[in-house]
Amino acid sequence: MSTALSELLKVCAGCGSCLSSCPVYYYLRDETYSPRGKISVVRALQEGTITPQEGGPVLSYCSLCGGCEAVCPNGIKTIDIIVEARRRWGRSSLKRALVQGFLKFPLPAHLFTSLAGLIFPDKLPFRPALRTFLSSSKERYGKGTRGRVLLFVGCLTNRFFPHHAEAAVEVLARLGYEVVVPKGQICCGFPFLSLGEEGEFKRIMEHNKKVIDALGPDFITSTCPTGMDTLRRFYGYSNVRDLSWLVLQAGPSMGRLKLSTTWHDPCHLKKELGVWKEPRRLLSEISDFREMERADLCCGFGGSFSLSHPGISFALRREKRVYIRESGAQALVTACPGCIMFLGSFSPLPVYHLAEILQRALG
Ligand code: SF4
Ligand code: SF4
Repeated sequence: MSTALSELLKVCAGCGSCLSSCPVYYYLRDETYSPRGKISVVRALQEGTITPQEGGPVLSYCSLCGGCEAVCPNGIKTIDIIVEARRRWGRSSLKRALVQGFLKFPLPAHLFTSLAGLIFPDKLPFRPALRTFLSSSKERYGKGTRGRVLLFVGCLTNRFFPHHAEAAVEVLARLGYEVVVPKGQICCGFPFLSLGEEGEFKRIMEHNKKVIDALGPDFITSTCPTGMDTLRRFYGYSNVRDLSWLVLQAGPSMGRLKLSTTWHDPCHLKKELGVWKEPRRLLSEISDFREMERADLCCGFGGSFSLSHPGISFALRREKRVYIRESGAQALVTACPGCIMFLGSFSPLPVYHLAEILQRALG
């Protein structure tokens, strides 16, 4: 990635087609923090016309959502540019320590979840998880002939939402897939990449690739779109498929739920992986589906972005809350553990992962 920065920067024509798709610009309305504004800052850093002290802080104003990439007529890889620029000029040792602490010490996260669940039992969107998914999962589910699917669990699902992964393996196994869950898998590494910690990311990637390649899966899936996109984009796997795609391939007959639903598009699922029709098709088949206004507006989370810029994150979440309520549905469905955690009790409707709703519809 490091050698390509000048090549990446050459391509931006400054046309501005990306402005309306950037949640940061949408909130701040300041050109400096638009995608092309940030690219200009990186160019100035590269050329040495501004100092890292001047330009470095601007680099944190990107949640790496991919919205600009999805609409850029020149195929600009903003995520690659920002990640490389952070590696050179914007690393944060405090954030690195926080991410490492979260990934290496599971107990505090479990304690947090458990205590929060005791205090706000009806407000949390997830059950307290006293165990990780990987500590109790099997390595293989189902003997179907539809293909071998490897479930990449991801750290948020493993630690906070084991029931998402349980629902996904049950749905896939019942639809005739063989599901493999390698115990040796670890976090996809994206939190490190987003902080510009390329060396740590590469160590994680090499470890996971060995574990994945040993099982030779036909498809790789995850209940976390950021994990899926990391495996597709940075690990180089072309057989990454969303759960909704795998379910539609199997063409199951599912029951219709007495439930009205609405859908929130996770940024990486729609804007990076191009998956947005499939979940709507499934929800329309199994429930009374109601489209939400601005369904693809970022929930505001963006991983460590919400720590750096809580004002922007919370403002986006407040706006999202209005659209969720106005949908008139009984349940909010999405497919990202980060969105589910961040919207959480703030959502006026109960929040479910698509895997849970599909599990219910299969009966
Ligand atoms: S990133 Fe793409 S869409 Fe945005 S200004 Fe540059 S060329 Fe135009
Ligand atoms: S990746 Fe998202 S937050 Fe970053 S510049 Fe592009 S649209 Fe804006």
